[in-house]
Parts: sequence; structure tokens; C-alpha cells
Amino acid sequence: MRNYTQFYIDGQWTDPVAPARTAEVINPATEEVSGQISLGSSADVDKAVAAARRAFAGYSQTSVKERLDLLETIQAEYERRERELGEAITEEMGAPLSLGCGFHTLLGKGHLGTAIEVLKAFKFEEERGVTLIRKEPIGVCGLITPWNWPMNQTCVKIFPALATGCTMILKPPQLAPYSAQLLAEILHDSGVPAGVFNMIQGKGSEIGTALTTHEDVDMISFTGSEPVGVQIQKDAADTVKRVGLELGGKSAWIVLDDSDLGANVAAATAGMMGNSGQTCSAGSRLLVPSSRMDEVKAAAAEAANGVTVGDPTGNFAMGPVVSKSQYNIIQQYIEKGIEEGAELIAGGPGRPEGLDKGWYVKPTVFVGTNDMVIAREEIFGPVLVIIGYDDLDHAVEIANDSIFGLGGYVSGQDLETCREVSRKMRTGAIWVNGGFDFHAPFGGYKRSGNGREWGDYGFEEYLETKAVIGWNPA
Ligand code: NDP
Repeated sequence: MRNYTQFYIDGQWTDPVAPARTAEVINPATEEVSGQISLGSSADVDKAVAAARRAFAGYSQTSVKERLDLLETIQAEYERRERELGEAITEEMGAPLSLGCGFHTLLGKGHLGTAIEVLKAFKFEEERGVTLIRKEPIGVCGLITPWNWPMNQTCVKIFPALATGCTMILKPPQLAPYSAQLLAEILHDSGVPAGVFNMIQGKGSEIGTALTTHEDVDMISFTGSEPVGVQIQKDAADTVKRVGLELGGKSAWIVLDDSDLGANVAAATAGMMGNSGQTCSAGSRLLVPSSRMDEVKAAAAEAANGVTVGDPTGNFAMGPVVSKSQYNIIQQYIEKGIEEGAELIAGGPGRPEGLDKGWYVKPTVFVGTNDMVIAREEIFGPVLVIIGYDDLDHAVEIANDSIFGLGGYVSGQDLETCREVSRKMRTGAIWVNGGFDFHAPFGGYKRSGNGREWGDYGFEEYLETKAVIGWNPA
């Protein structure tokens, strides 16, 4: 049992200001209580913001060398405790251990390494004629994170903020609070100066709102659902904060009509089931040539049925989804797909056979149309919708017919055709035949958000631009 009842404020582990209120944390694989956290209040936020403001005066003036040394110390400590972080992720949100201790923690480490690389080369000052343009840390930042990729979403905010000289308050998700707690220990043990990093556990509606409305918070970076993103933008408006939003998606994966069709469909289907489908940029709409639908159905069904589901500490490809409430939402969408006439070709309602405890969902594949609810709304579970297209213009039209614009995928042998399609898709990131790049900007068009994280673009989120005119005499 984990007992995480203190917050990290001003360089110390401290008790909540108000009388303790706690919340149980449930292991989604067992439905049993795995630990507890304290729920903070606005008084804790006031305390943390005051500490962050005090620390900003000194930390914002540190040299690049000092911040690089700090990040490199954190890197060594993160690597030392990586296994522990992965195990915490598995326990809190149900990712298979191979994923929790694999890609989940690797993403956090990758953002840390990338922040170091970017910081080494970043130009904080540039002279242009009579003017000096300075990039300066924006100030005290409120970082609000979700549970689906806990280390990714946290590290992609914390490390650019630390690298640019900002101070911060992190509000982790109640559903997955453990890995953030360990990360706070890592930062403390690495010697992050008091007040630079603070962490308060608690409800989004209390801690999140206290941060977004706070007079002395300069910037909010949020990853999560679209309705909460909208609320945060409204709450932050009165104090004219900068708000970075990374919200939902309903990303299209276009498979070209070429000889690799079956293999590409199988890869896209298996990809959708990764992390139990709880990925904002997941390719949840698979667009395929209508003329080859029979071949596509066979490949997708075989791939989905081949995804093993079970105990995340065992040897399975997919664990449970994060909570009972997410399980219920996903079940409702599966029922909705059946009701609106989509053809179910794999999975379906209920738990996979043999699993009667834990929030396990069957890897599910529908063939449907783009006007169906299951093709328009973010399900955030292992549910794929296959949609047929007549030609590539039609495929692009379907892909762009969404309120979201976060990710996109194009698979096919002809690279020039893939590139042509990628230019026409209205989304913030597109993967052409796979690939991965920590330096590529990540963020959404349309209702998938604003701003960009990852790499040097991620630094800009935490920087103000100052022009000093007359720096050089005319
Ligand atoms: P939320 O958007 O509700 O939560 C994300 C974070 O925001 C959590 O830390 C949450 O706190 C906090 N929060 C909640 N309300 C507020 C508020 N008013 N002001 C400030 N912060 C707030 O996502 P859910 O966890 O409820 O997931 C629901 C859906 O969101 C999913 O089904 C999925 O569609 C989408 N989602 C998208 C993600 C993405 O990466 N784009 C990530 C996660 C979810 P608390 O601890 O109280 O929950």
C-alpha cells in the first residue's frame, strides 16, 4: 500500500494546510485499493505559488550551465529509479509492465535528454540591428496533467520549464498520482532549489481551478479532455495568463492502396490497442480503400483478436483501462456503435473471456461511416473504426472532417504519395510509415488544442519575448 499524504512545497515534504482529506487510489487491474493520497486545497496552492514566486527571482537568473548541470543530475537520478517509476505506472493506470517500464518511462527520459540537447544550443538572445531580442522565462507555471501517459505528459512540461528558468506547481491526476510522487522525490534528491518545483495532489476542480485563477500564476500548461481545456481557458482569462492546451483527438490513419495493405492494416489495428487505446494521438479512424474492404476486415480482425489482454504484471499486450468510469464510457460507445449500425468485426461489449475482475475491455473493431458517433467522438479506449474511401481526395476529406486535429498517419509504399497526403491533412503531427522524433513539435489544430510541446518548440511555451530597442546605438 502506498501512502502518499504529503505534498512537495518549497523544497520540503509538507502536510496539507487544511485538515487532511484523503482519496483512495484503485488498481484498475484488481479493483482493489492500492494506496491513498491527500487532497489539497487552495491554501496549499497559495503556499506553493508563494514559494515558486520567491524562487523565481533567483532561478530565472541562473546560467545555462547551472541549469544544464541540474538537468544532468536529474537525468542520472531518473535513470537510477526508472524501474520504480515503471512499476508505479503499471500500478496506477494498468499499463503492462513491459510498457510501463518500457515506452512510458522512456518517453519521460527522452524529454529530459531532449531538454538538455535543446538547452545546449538554444539562443536566448539575438541582436537585430539596434534591437536585442531576449527570450526570458515566463514566470510561475501551473502544470496540470492526465493519467494516460503520466511520465510523458509530466516530463514534457517540467523539463522545458526547468531548462528555461521557470518555477512551477504540478497538479498530477488523482487516478494516477504515484509516478508524479516518485518524480518529485527524484527532483528533490537531485538538488532542485527550494520552491522551483512544487507538487500538490488533489481534485482538478479544486487545485486545478485554484491554479488557473491564481493572480500570481503566469502560465498554465494543460493536457487532458477538451471540456476541461475550454474551462481552463475561461478560468485563466481574467488574469490574462498564457494557456497551453493539449486536448483530445480522433486521428485518421490513411492506408494507401498498395501491396502492403494487409500488413499496414494489421499494424494500425495493433497500434490502436496499445496502452488500451488511451492515447490522445491514437489512429482511431482507419481509412482504407473501399474496393479492398474484405481483405482489410480479415487483416484487422486477425490483428485485434491476436492482442492478448490480461494482468499487467503478466505477459500480456494489453492491460485494463484506467478506471471503472472510463470502462463504462467505453462500453457505452461500443453499444452506441452497434446501435447506429456499424459492423462489429472484432471484440464487442463486456470483458474479455476469463476476466471477471479489473477494467478490461475487448480489443474492438467496427466498420462504419464517418458520420457515426463512434467516428466523431474521442472514445479513449481500444476501439477502432474502419472507414472506406473511394480515392485519395476522398480519404483526405474524411480525415479532415473532424472537430479535432491532433495526429494523423499515412502508410504506403509510394513515399511521394504519402508526402502529398500528409500536406493535405489538417493536423499538428503526421507520421509517415511510422518513425519517431523527440525534437518534432507536438500539438493540435482545431479543438485538439493550441501551442506546441516537445523539443525547441516546447521551450517557447515557457518563454516571454523582450525587445530592447537601442541596445546597439543607431
Ligand atoms: P480531465 O481532462 O478531466 O483531467 C485531466 C487533468 O485535469 C486531471 O489532472 C484533472 O484532475 C484536471 N482537471 C479536471 N477538471 C479541472 C478543472 N476544472 N480545472 C483544472 N484542472 C482540472 O480528463 P479525464 O481524466 O477525466 O479523462 C476524460 C477524458 O479526457 C478521456 O476519456 C479522454 O477522452 C480525455 N483525455 C485526453 C487526454 C489527452 O492526452 N489529450 C488525456 C486524458 C484524458 P483530476 O485529478 O480531478 O481528474
